[in-house]
Formats: sequence, C-alpha cells, structure tokens
Amino acid sequence: MGNLSRPNSNDATGTANRSRSVVPMSGICSRCVDGCTGNCEVFKATFRGRELLYPGPFGEVTAGADKDYPVDYSHLNIQGYALGAKGLGEGIVGDPDTATFPMVKTEAEYGWDKKVKMRLPIFTGALGSTEIARKNWEHFAIGAALSGITIVCGENVCGIDPELELDSNNKIVKSPEMDRRIEIYQRYHQGYGEILVQMNVEDTRLGVAEYVNNKHGLDTIELKWGQGAKCIGGEIRVNSIERALELQRRGYIVTPDPSNKTIQA
Ligand code: SF4
Repeated sequence: MGNLSRPNSNDATGTANRSRSVVPMSGICSRCVDGCTGNCEVFKATFRGRELLYPGPFGEVTAGADKDYPVDYSHLNIQGYALGAKGLGEGIVGDPDTATFPMVKTEAEYGWDKKVKMRLPIFTGALGSTEIARKNWEHFAIGAALSGITIVCGENVCGIDPELELDSNNKIVKSPEMDRRIEIYQRYHQGYGEILVQMNVEDTRLGVAEYVNNKHGLDTIELKWGQGAKCIGGEIRVNSIERALELQRRGYIVTPDPSNKTIQA
C-alpha cells in the first residue's frame, strides 16, 4: 500500500511541488534543486516558519484532510427493497398515496430530563471564533433554525469579541457578538433544535455559561478541555500587535509573546 496522503504539498497550505517526480514518503521532489523558486512546504517554511501550519488564506477557507483511505462509502451500495411503510407519522396509514419520501418522519430528540426535539438528527460543526465562522454565521444559523436542527456555537466567541465588556472580576458583562449569534438563530427558531455553546478553559474563566444562560436562557453547553480544544491548541490569527495584546490581557496564550519588546519591534 502506498502513502495515503501526499506530504509536503497541499492546496490547504498553498504549496505545490516543483517537479512531477516526488518521493512518496517525504513529498520532496526526487531532484531537489539549488535555486528552486518553490513552492513545496519545506520551501515555504524556510521563510514563513510556523505560519505554514495554518490553512489559508486565514479567515477565508474551511480546510479538510484529503487522505485517500483505501475504503470509503463509495465502496458500499444500498440495495433498496420495499418492506412496508414506517415512520409516516401519527395516524397515517401506509399506502401508495401516502408512502412518499417527503412524508417520512425523521424527527429525533436528545437530553435526559429535558428533551430537545429535532426535525432531523443533525448537529452542525462548531462555528466558533474563526473569521470564516463569524462572517458566515447568519446563513448557518437561519438555515439550521428553519431546518429544525441544532447549531453549535464554537468556543472563544465572547473572548475574541472586540466589543466584549468585562467586570472587575474578568467576567462577561456584555458580548455583542455572542448576542448577535444567539438572536439570529432564535429569530427563526420553530421549536425544533437549539443553539448550544461550546466552552473551553478560557470561556469557563470568562463565565460564558453564566452569560448565555442568564441573558439568553440557553441551557445547553458543551465543555471542552484545553485552549482551542485540540491537544496542540491554536485557534485564530490576528493582524495587529494591539489586538494580540488585548487577547493576552483577556487571558489567552498568544504566540509569539506580543508583550515582548523584541517581537513588537
Ligand atoms: S524546494 Fe523545490 S525542488 Fe526542493 S522539494 Fe521543494 S519544490 Fe521540490
């Protein structure tokens, strides 16, 4: 079995090999030439460093892995067979006039003591503090509300809100960005699905759960561990030293350290 991915070059990082002949294990051109003008990942990392870790352009893309697994859903066939009509909803008898696919009941619910009904058993991916999530929130939220599914508001939405107001204990008093996200979903909500909010360590410290519960009546949160919730952390990029310092003051780990005079210079 060959390499299931192609290392050292990917559209997500804006890189490509100079040569068509590439060593499968390393992704380096079989003839790596002195004076190459790029643009594989090794080449680009020599002058952009760790910035290369980010799929880009940042804030304008959603990136996915293109590992070519040897088995995928296209290898399966579903052979349909009529075995009666179920799921038509209360009191509807299955016959050729009623057993049409738009009639199928796809509702589901979750929760122990308090049930949340959904028209379809679907949760969105978590749309958090990234710029791509912020600027596309309206479409997702309205679509989710009208479809009767649950939308997940990701982490750090309050923490990176430029208009965030904190009290003397560093707890949220006002977050217009979080307010906007919840209000858009609730405006079109029709009793199915809900908006739930993820919380990581910084969200917990800032009191996001208390804020969304007290101000908006939300009662579902998803607790996460770690900054950026991934083992390696890493969430967003900022483009000014002032913004980096602001996030550092709010308790975020910002690298490289924006308060370091050398970095500032
Ligand atoms: S530096 Fe140039 S020649 Fe070398 S592996 Fe990268 S793209 Fe290929």
